Amino acid sequence: MRYRELGKTGLKVSELGFGTIPILSGHVPVLPEFFSPDTETAVAIMKKAFDLGCNLYDTAIPEEYGDAEKKLGEFAKTIDRKRIVISDKARFYSGAEIYREVLRSVENLGTEPDIYFVHQVDESNADEVFGKNGALDALYDLKKEGKIGYTGIASHYYNVLHRAALDHRVDVLQGSGNIMERGMLDRIREEAIFENKGFILNKVFAAGLLIGPFSVPELIGGILEYPFSCALLGIGTFEQADMAFAGEYPFVHFSFEEVLERLKHTFEPIGCDRCEKCVCPYGHEIHTTFRQYNYFHLGKEFWAANKLKLDLGKTFEHCRSCTEQVCMKECGRSIYIPEEIERVYKLLEAYGNL
Ligand code: SF4
Ligand code: SF4
Repeated sequence: MRYRELGKTGLKVSELGFGTIPILSGHVPVLPEFFSPDTETAVAIMKKAFDLGCNLYDTAIPEEYGDAEKKLGEFAKTIDRKRIVISDKARFYSGAEIYREVLRSVENLGTEPDIYFVHQVDESNADEVFGKNGALDALYDLKKEGKIGYTGIASHYYNVLHRAALDHRVDVLQGSGNIMERGMLDRIREEAIFENKGFILNKVFAAGLLIGPFSVPELIGGILEYPFSCALLGIGTFEQADMAFAGEYPFVHFSFEEVLERLKHTFEPIGCDRCEKCVCPYGHEIHTTFRQYNYFHLGKEFWAANKLKLDLGKTFEHCRSCTEQVCMKECGRSIYIPEEIERVYKLLEAYGNL
């Protein structure tokens, strides 16, 4: 196992970390497959990963990750606590709420988390999170009180992560990316401001959807060139722990075109890398629409179609009458966005989900 610096925290974390969603039990509407091992088995799987060199374990409060937080706490009792980094998170945006959640997490874990993230920060809640008495202020206070080690912001949005990178209260960022959805990672690599923060990467396998067109070594090796601190892999079985942590994955370089070529064996992907540079004055989240289209073809038909349904009709209508088309000005992939929106619309029409 190789280890990387976690920003300026002084911590060294394993290049690959343990994502705890697959070990949860319960009924939590999460994307990746989970295996519901009992606590004893889950602890043994985490121990196996630890023995293979993994030292970062990522979880969330029960409403998000079921009993994974408690299982991680049980595991932490079985080893020298100082040898692992526990990363925890909660989807609450006011200071009072996140303060309450951290105390609850400490109880569930039986120990203080090393990093605590405000989870799923986006444009709609960012001002509250970063503002006075918001969640970030509370985490900063909790860090001073010793109830958490470091503060974090987790988001799927570049603009939010950029704002967090500029904020002295934030120690660690968590964001998503993989060899297909690499636009945000490319931007982060180019911006010096991100060098001051730890970065935990998730969605390396795109919730498992890229496994098939690509092998696990290709998916892991292909992201190693990016400056993250730790890339999370969801682990739910001993076999998965073995596969993830037993050896060092060699670096592989895929150009974006090579990735698209591989996907073209099964469908014609929309060549969007999710750089999030396109801005629509009507507020359409173009990159999410394109992601759902690609995910639809990668095996998430029902889920993707339902997500698309939410605002695609309106988007399609707007695009048809839009003369400015400002969204295309910054697209480095030269995507003719309204045409692709039409392609997505037609797919959904054919699927009978409009
Ligand atoms: S073409 Fe116009 S309406 Fe459609 S996404 Fe672009 S800016 Fe928005
Ligand atoms: S459509 Fe273009 S600008 Fe928008 S996220 Fe995709 S690649 Fe980036």
